[in-house]
Amino acid sequence: MINILVLNAGSSSQKSCLYCLDEKELPQETQKPIWSANIDWTATSNQGVFNVKANGIKQHLTLESNDHHQGIRQMLDTLIQGKTKVIDNFSAINLVGHRVVHGGTNYSEATLINSDVKATITELIPLAPTHNPAHLEGIEIIESILNNIPQVAVFDTAFHSQMPLENAAYPIPYQWLEKGIRRYGFHGISHQYCANRVAELMNQPLSSLKLITCHLGNGCSLAAIKNGISIDTTMGFTPLEGLMMGTRGGSIDPAILIYLMREHNFQAEELNHLLNQESGLKGISGISSDMRAICQGIKEGNQRAKLAFDMFIHRLHSCLGSMLTSLGGLDALVFTAGIGENSTIVREKACEALSFLGLELDLFKNNDSPVGVDISSSDSSIKVFVIQTQEDWAIAQSSWQLYNSLSH
Ligand code: AMP
Repeated sequence: MINILVLNAGSSSQKSCLYCLDEKELPQETQKPIWSANIDWTATSNQGVFNVKANGIKQHLTLESNDHHQGIRQMLDTLIQGKTKVIDNFSAINLVGHRVVHGGTNYSEATLINSDVKATITELIPLAPTHNPAHLEGIEIIESILNNIPQVAVFDTAFHSQMPLENAAYPIPYQWLEKGIRRYGFHGISHQYCANRVAELMNQPLSSLKLITCHLGNGCSLAAIKNGISIDTTMGFTPLEGLMMGTRGGSIDPAILIYLMREHNFQAEELNHLLNQESGLKGISGISSDMRAICQGIKEGNQRAKLAFDMFIHRLHSCLGSMLTSLGGLDALVFTAGIGENSTIVREKACEALSFLGLELDLFKNNDSPVGVDISSSDSSIKVFVIQTQEDWAIAQSSWQLYNSLSH
């Protein structure tokens, strides 16, 4: 057996899990980790908490220190001691897989981490200022705790790295493109996992399908996937472009920023905060970034909640149209992440826009908490799937494949 530790480090949290997998054959079905833990660094003003799940037990523990190195060490110690012990010592871990948000155009697949890879992740910090430093920190902490263990980077940008240049470039002076100002796209691990899963469910090779995957969570993006390649996506140079999101505005006229700087003396940091933290569903509704609260607000007659919802749907329709025309056809529409997996009404409204193409949603199936099934009606021209995204499992799969290719 091979034990793969997955680290998914964000700016405010650290999610980790351990998969115990067959050494010879990678299971096709999604596997459950034998241990999982989640640190919330922001839980209280000066001390975080973490949850651990293993051996059928769930524990809620307080971190002894808010220092990330000590916190991760304390979390990893629950792998080898106490009620959640699943391995005898750290040397039983064969490989560590990291989710890395930004790999630029350098990486199109999972990559063994060495000093060059770390240098690239460091160089890309200006493009992913909250994520890439957290990933580097995670990589270095693992190095110090688990010494020379092989570590793998699985990039969120990798799946989009084969996008045609005309879809990736912005119509600005060419020198900027040469300096790396272009569309990179994000949520790639999720889009790729969902595309593969849908091809399995449709029993057709991914290389023969045209898909739109809708990752609708706190962050939202669409990907147009043709023959297994992401040819277009709504997020761009940063995860701020495209759809309306929980707290992010998505695309706006860039001249608004110039106006605010010129006429209202806004500084870059303030604009960054407003567009990333105070916009989207939260900014328009004034209630919350959470789609559940928006829908509750609508029921209570809140007009701003209704406006936020209607805008979310309008932008989803616009971006669906854009992905659809990039693809020039569509075999299946796929929903995933918090809103995509759980919001019946968002799926229903999204599908309405494609009814002129013969897409027909089965409203009963849509209402029936569907996961991993086609929820279109039997004579719909386009299939509709709800897929539970499994980023950690996808990272474990990619890491396993790389490990296997290296050891043969
Ligand atoms: P994620 O980023 O994938 O974890 O998604 C988180 C978001 O999913 C939340 O902020 C909510 O907006 C949304 N969400 C979660 N559960 C539901 C639900 N039952 N109905 C509607 N939206 C939901």
